[in-house]
Amino acid sequence: MNNTRIGIGYDVHRLVEGEAFWLGGVRVHHHKGAIGHSDADVLIHAICDALLGAANLGDIGIHFPDDDPSLKGIDSKILLKKVAGLLASEGWAISNVDSVVSLQMPKIKPYISDMKKTLAEVMNMNPETVSVKATTTEKLGFIGREEGVEARAVVLIHEA
Ligand SMILES: [Zn+2]
Repeated sequence: MNNTRIGIGYDVHRLVEGEAFWLGGVRVHHHKGAIGHSDADVLIHAICDALLGAANLGDIGIHFPDDDPSLKGIDSKILLKKVAGLLASEGWAISNVDSVVSLQMPKIKPYISDMKKTLAEVMNMNPETVSVKATTTEKLGFIGREEGVEARAVVLIHEA
């Protein structure tokens, strides 16, 4: 059996009135959006961290510092493409990705198949191997108060 590694990623962003909301590489239509140095795509950031962790290549903050002016407002799909490319250059292929987004509002079910397709395309994977799930927190905590959005991801990688 090929050498395999597992990785975990986690991220949080604040939700603010009137901001564009990017999630899993897809524009979600809502009166609030996530803010951050990049386009604040919390799901992509969690997946990047999981991939980097699996390959023991540090974390997203090391590769894409939030004080780098060239990354201001950057499309996180570009970051994910770079991370996937870095893993490939280190001899790793991605077996599968599983993820969960914690968000009170809006319901993201209608966007999920688009997110899977988009993420798979960026990572050059079969969409069957990319899973995105969603949950609320039953109106508890900062997620429940619609102050923020959270994402977790796990990945399995194998020697290509
Ligand atoms: Zn982030």
